[in-house]
Amino acid sequence: MADKKSILNKKSLDFLKRYLNTAAPTGYEKPGQEVWMEYLKPYVDEFITDPYGSVAGVVNPDADYKVVIEAHADEIAWYVNHITDSGLIYVQRNGGSDHQIAPSKRVHIHTRQGPVDGVFGWPAIHTRNPAKEKTPTVDSIFVDVGAEDAEEVEKMGIHVGCVVSYPDDFMILNGDKFICRAIDNRMGGFMIAEVARLIHESKKKPDFGLYIVNSVQEEVGLKGATMMANRLKPDVAIVTDVTHDTTTPMLEQKKLGTAKIGKGPVITYAPAVQNNLRTHLIETAEKKKIPFQRMVSAPATGTDTDAFAYSNGGVPSALIALALRYMHTTVEMVHRDDVENVIRLIHESVKGIKKGETFSYFY
Ligand SMILES: [Zn+2]
Repeated sequence: MADKKSILNKKSLDFLKRYLNTAAPTGYEKPGQEVWMEYLKPYVDEFITDPYGSVAGVVNPDADYKVVIEAHADEIAWYVNHITDSGLIYVQRNGGSDHQIAPSKRVHIHTRQGPVDGVFGWPAIHTRNPAKEKTPTVDSIFVDVGAEDAEEVEKMGIHVGCVVSYPDDFMILNGDKFICRAIDNRMGGFMIAEVARLIHESKKKPDFGLYIVNSVQEEVGLKGATMMANRLKPDVAIVTDVTHDTTTPMLEQKKLGTAKIGKGPVITYAPAVQNNLRTHLIETAEKKKIPFQRMVSAPATGTDTDAFAYSNGGVPSALIALALRYMHTTVEMVHRDDVENVIRLIHESVKGIKKGETFSYFY
């Protein structure tokens, strides 16, 4: 990527840090959405919000032809599920939270008075039977908030139904690796906001409606995107989410395919991905010399792409994925170059869409 100018600047990196460091568990995305809207506001004409907290920033709200670029706003978390008499807390998943990484993590329990600190405890190595080592399960992990009993837990404002998130913050490794919890998919929201900024700064408004959509509740089954697809009734949807870098230990590339951070946006092949729209993305990447990788995600992408594709009698949809290491851990890792190239590819692909384009296979 020799002489390409960096897209990210101080202001965008400050926004990224603030956006990542704001907890937005599934069902409770409002704080993250507020940070995102504040950044996006100068670059859009208006916002559309829905009852569950999904947001679309809109350029040209009166246009008939509508193009969506989309990411999801929520992050995986836990629910307080049961408080024992001795004041320990058992949890239930809110999204695909990983039981294996929980022990020894610090947590925030979100209460009406704000976040309360806690820790996932675990029996000491000395006390375990090495012949019968147990791996953590969702039924065995528990949070300790330093309370004597259930009553004390309640006095701290904690009750069944409170959500629990990890406080791990943004950091940069070796200059160009971004690390944080919730890069899945806060980085997506960041990238589509950057596309909106670039379009605004280029002073070349599209002649169609552009909807920059940050959907809630993806981690529990693409729920927010389903609602937004029905509400907006778009003509095209380009979705971005994360996918696995499969080059780290213990992953089988034969089964999972191959993608690696730093090697470019991952263009996805799946039945929900409309072929002509995907060809448009690939031709754009080739023309603009943006590196890209290919991955298969059958039978479903498991991303909001599926929600848009199968809505409203069918909406041409495609997925530009961002390769990521250690998904659903607190140390998710992506490459800065990929972040910039996904932004470039979405931006150039949107610029290349002609108003009224149907992407039809037949005429
Ligand atoms: Zn996820």
